[in-house]
Amino acid sequence: MPSIPAPAKPIALVAPAAPAPTALQKALHKLGLKRDIDLALHLPLRYEDETRITRLADVRPGAGAADSVQIEAVVTDCQVMYRPRRQLVVTVDDGSDVCVLRFFNFYPSQQKALAAGQRIRARGELKGGFAGWQMLHPTCRSASGALPQALTPVYSTVAGLAQPTLRRVVLGALERVDLADTLPALALAENLPAPLWRLQEALWFLHHPKPDTALDELQDRSHPAWQRLKAEELLAQQLSQLQARRARNALRAPMLAAPAGKAGLKSQAQAHQQVPQPAPLHERLLAALPFQLTAAQRRVCAEIAHDLARQQPMHRLLQGDVGSGKTVVAALAAALCIQAGYQCALMAPTEILAQQHFGKLVDWLAPLGVQVAWLTGSQKTKQRREMLALVESGEAGLVIGTHAVIQDKVQFSNLALAIIDEQHRFGVAQRLALRGKASLRHSRHEGEPSPGRGRAGEGVSTEKQGEADAQREPHLLMMTATPIPRTLAMSYYADLDVSTIDELPPGRTPVVTKLVSDARRGEVIERIRTQVAQGRQVYWVCPLIEESEALDLTNATQTHAQLSAELAGVSIGLLHSRMPTAEKKAVMALFTSGAMAVLVSTTVIEVGVDVPKASLMVIEHAERFGLSQLHQLRGRVGRGAAASACVLLYSTGDASRLGDTARARLKTMVETTDGFEVARRDLQIRGPGEFLGARQSGDALLRFADLQTDSAWLEWARALAPQMLDAEPVMAQKHLDRWLGTKAAYLKA
Ligand code: ADP
Ligand code: MG
Repeated sequence: MPSIPAPAKPIALVAPAAPAPTALQKALHKLGLKRDIDLALHLPLRYEDETRITRLADVRPGAGAADSVQIEAVVTDCQVMYRPRRQLVVTVDDGSDVCVLRFFNFYPSQQKALAAGQRIRARGELKGGFAGWQMLHPTCRSASGALPQALTPVYSTVAGLAQPTLRRVVLGALERVDLADTLPALALAENLPAPLWRLQEALWFLHHPKPDTALDELQDRSHPAWQRLKAEELLAQQLSQLQARRARNALRAPMLAAPAGKAGLKSQAQAHQQVPQPAPLHERLLAALPFQLTAAQRRVCAEIAHDLARQQPMHRLLQGDVGSGKTVVAALAAALCIQAGYQCALMAPTEILAQQHFGKLVDWLAPLGVQVAWLTGSQKTKQRREMLALVESGEAGLVIGTHAVIQDKVQFSNLALAIIDEQHRFGVAQRLALRGKASLRHSRHEGEPSPGRGRAGEGVSTEKQGEADAQREPHLLMMTATPIPRTLAMSYYADLDVSTIDELPPGRTPVVTKLVSDARRGEVIERIRTQVAQGRQVYWVCPLIEESEALDLTNATQTHAQLSAELAGVSIGLLHSRMPTAEKKAVMALFTSGAMAVLVSTTVIEVGVDVPKASLMVIEHAERFGLSQLHQLRGRVGRGAAASACVLLYSTGDASRLGDTARARLKTMVETTDGFEVARRDLQIRGPGEFLGARQSGDALLRFADLQTDSAWLEWARALAPQMLDAEPVMAQKHLDRWLGTKAAYLKA
């Protein structure tokens, strides 16, 4: 071996550069295909039948015209023509008839491959016109070699990665990869909804089905090979959630036990010390509230308090319809945490909502001696620095804010409870980040001397201590007004505990919802006039135009101008997302105080805003909104005792009628005000993929199984997962690695 000369200068200590990824690797990574098993599980979208040759003379014009056919023929003529535009026109003859192949985009190489005299196979849609047979942009290949023995798979791909290449790569992976079954015998014994193929068989089949396979069984995924994949996928999902739950149970969170009630505490205090203790914080908060908790609120509070008192981190979803009073439940949980000497963080998706929470919680908790810090992106540097100091020192018991709460600079002293409002608005990564905030710092352990408030690493007493802290997790409470239907809860949220507020505070009158054509806009404006004359307040929400924020704005501005012109003397404000924060706050403050009667807004008011005197909600172009969004918007009214209404203004636009899904959404809104029913119908209309879209990272979604049609497999997987984890842990892990690979961490959020 030649000796390598020593470098003249010492070189930097870097790992030897990995070879740069090739274009092929990059394309595969884009598709999320990193390992052989990923490729093996990249199943065809559809198939093409190239196993057969059709004779032109055998095709009846018009029959099956939409299907593509394959012909084998000799090129008799090939030329570039310029009328009506540049195109390659190739005439072929298969001995029974002739056909013209037309290409508007073509390369010189194609031209060469299609030169006169070549024998080719062309596949495409055959059109028979007066001018004879034609194919537009057929797929062509040389007719050398035997016909394929299996249907040709067509995969989803990205630009620059052609089907033949992808097919070759997938086939290579299939040949290399270990496809040994990871289903234990017990999986096959009981409750099997259908006989199962072996994984290896199923995958080979799905990538290369025999030509006589019923295509509709492949298309609708009812084929036994598909059943196997769905079963495998659902099992992986259930295993991973169960594993996450067990892993979390092995973690430690601070025990935030509620001190005994007033009486008990007093006698204790008297026994141990002379100084009388004040009642615990949550009790003082309860006493100070201007209302009684509903029975449902009391029940969920008890469920949360029970979790907080345990040393396993809580992982709970609090669902309750808009206006059901989740905020006060969050405040009571925070009080338990602060009382125990720890910090609580509350994160909300928008600045307006965070601001409102801040206002409310300061009102409730500041008089009880709790410091509340406020963190948001739009904050001035000086204020931000002050707030960060309060958080870091632990002086702030409660920290409220937007995404700013999870930024690197934010260091908690001893975070023990993280609350996420409107959790579906946050991504998985953000939830993970908030939970990560607790392990950054040392927390006070019950019965241990405080390790001080330095950064992690300073003042660590023992290694064991460090380990304990690395494991430390905050309790997590997620709140949502979009309830999760049962099938979804069973699958995607199987590792989550759910508390439900199924009752609205008393004295609310149900909101009456009306569908009104935009042609009757004038009547709606009149109605606003009478409402305002009675001292009521009105929201007018302008449509969401997804492609263009600018259009959104124009629309809101125009409506604002129209209303201002027609309702002279009425104070009408405008709120949109492009306004500077200070201006937004000012407008919101005017509306909240009642000084402003009508608020025209883009969807920025969607979540959480609470103005009890507002009793009319007008939603313009309601047909463009999603169902849960409409329900959330409607929830802004009906918060006081006054009878409230929601007017859904729809416009059929150019089309003479509304689309079916838009119609179904609006109909649902008119028919029910129950958030659970709305969610159930939403799931029906949209399907789980889209329903979960914003909530869960797309990666974690089921690719093959469908919760509606495969609920029998879901039940099977749910029953099997705990048995398999206990009896066959190695096999369970192998199954998980195969199916989840690098996505596993995300499923724990
Ligand atoms: P959401 O669940 O949509 O977040 P909020 O927490 O904003 O609802 O509560 C809606 C309104 O109801 C607030 O004004 C809140 O103070 C009030 N509220 C909450 N609980 C009760 C109750 N038990 N009795 C009366 N009003 C309540
Ligand atoms: Mg809320």
